[in-house]
Amino acid sequence: MNTKKIIIAIDGYASTGKSTLAKSLSAHYGYFHIDTGAMYRAVTFYALECCRISNRLLDYQKLIKNLESLRIDFKLIDSQSRCFLNDKDVDREIRTMSVLQSVSEISAIKEVRSYLVNQQRILGKNKGVVAEGRDIGTVVFPNAECKLFLTATPQVRAKRRYKEMKQLQVSTQYRSVLYNLNKRDKLDKSRQHSPLVKAKDAIELNVSSKSVNQVFNCAKKIVDLKLKL
Ligand code: C5P
Repeated sequence: MNTKKIIIAIDGYASTGKSTLAKSLSAHYGYFHIDTGAMYRAVTFYALECCRISNRLLDYQKLIKNLESLRIDFKLIDSQSRCFLNDKDVDREIRTMSVLQSVSEISAIKEVRSYLVNQQRILGKNKGVVAEGRDIGTVVFPNAECKLFLTATPQVRAKRRYKEMKQLQVSTQYRSVLYNLNKRDKLDKSRQHSPLVKAKDAIELNVSSKSVNQVFNCAKKIVDLKLKL
């Protein structure tokens, strides 16, 4: 068995299957899975719960001031990694449409990014991690040994996310999922700090017509090659 520990960075557009791939790769290699999207969602959930000025307005200064008090971690419950915010399991709450509608706005705040990037680097300091998000290969772990960038058409991605939300019994419509996805991609690509962009040395995988197993097998081949280097 190969005992070499590397960092596997998975970036890409919303709902391309980054989490599914990250989960199977981390299970296969015995690596720790860092779901950075869940971390941005957890901060957004906190902002919506505790930093509201009115229905539409959030108190960003309060959020920034309280960032240091937010402890976000992941625990394995029934072999599933779940996101905890200050010891409370918020994994379901961070997947609602209201969090999704605000997450890209919150993720664009410089202080939020630097706080979470720092946390992510601490989680990955001993390597042996699969980290997924938007800026892993470019900002969080620019020296990651293996970088993957997932793409797929908006329609394929919206269908995936809609099915997933149905399974989680989150009430929504396909149209709003597609709209939200395109809006988030646009905000994520155009923001000033750490925009969503493919790292120069990342390998692009177009997953539009690939099954979950096919994506895993493609990625595994790439990781195995990197482990041999
Ligand atoms: O990956 P997921 O769809 O859960 O991410 C939710 C949102 O969090 C993204 O749309 C993006 O705005 C933000 N995000 C980010 N940087 C990351 C991971 C997620 O800005 N590394």
